[in-house]
Amino acid sequence: MLDLLLPQRCVVCGRGGSQLCDACLDRLPRIVRPQCERCGLPTAWPVRRCRECMGRRLAFASARSAVRYDDAVRSLVAAWKERELRRLVAAAVSVVLEVVPPPHGEAVTFVPPDPDRGLRRGHHPPRELAKRLANEWELPLVVPLRRRAARRQRGLSRTERRRNVACVFASRAEAPRSLVLVDDVFTSGATVNAASSALRKAGAKRVDVVTFARVVR
Ligand SMILES: [Zn+2]
Ligand SMILES: [Zn+2]
Repeated sequence: MLDLLLPQRCVVCGRGGSQLCDACLDRLPRIVRPQCERCGLPTAWPVRRCRECMGRRLAFASARSAVRYDDAVRSLVAAWKERELRRLVAAAVSVVLEVVPPPHGEAVTFVPPDPDRGLRRGHHPPRELAKRLANEWELPLVVPLRRRAARRQRGLSRTERRRNVACVFASRAEAPRSLVLVDDVFTSGATVNAASSALRKAGAKRVDVVTFARVVR
């Protein structure tokens, strides 16, 4: 409903007409190969592990993202999160389908919302993204994880963040053997790694991560 009442302006350039204009949609910085086979970071040549994921114990088999997290993507994700511009989900889904090959997996799931935040408003971008992608990939959407309330991540160092998120996820149902885990933004990878680890504990043998955006430092 809210969508209909708001004036339709591009969340990136401000031009009237739609929530994301065609020019800005075209310009979103797609991630193209070569990239790290494991974590999906763009690299100069194909590698099996990269500077980001080398030496890290990763619970997911692979991670792939559609776009680099730049200023335009930041505006898009913020509008999607805070102003609940649900039509942006359709744009995000279309870019994921364009860039990320359909992953192998029996089912799709998403990083569950913080009980203190997302659930209160019933709006959780990763769930919306996962639901639509599951539909496109013709896979069932399952919810084997729940999230405990956690300390805020803001202002913490990378190591502190990892430790902070490690015990945040718990299982509420048995997980299928192979799963695609969907989230909106891959930042350090700590969140999807912790969720993947919880999915493995819940019975999954393989988890492949797909996110809309990826922070590339
Ligand atoms: Zn625009
Ligand atoms: Zn890597």
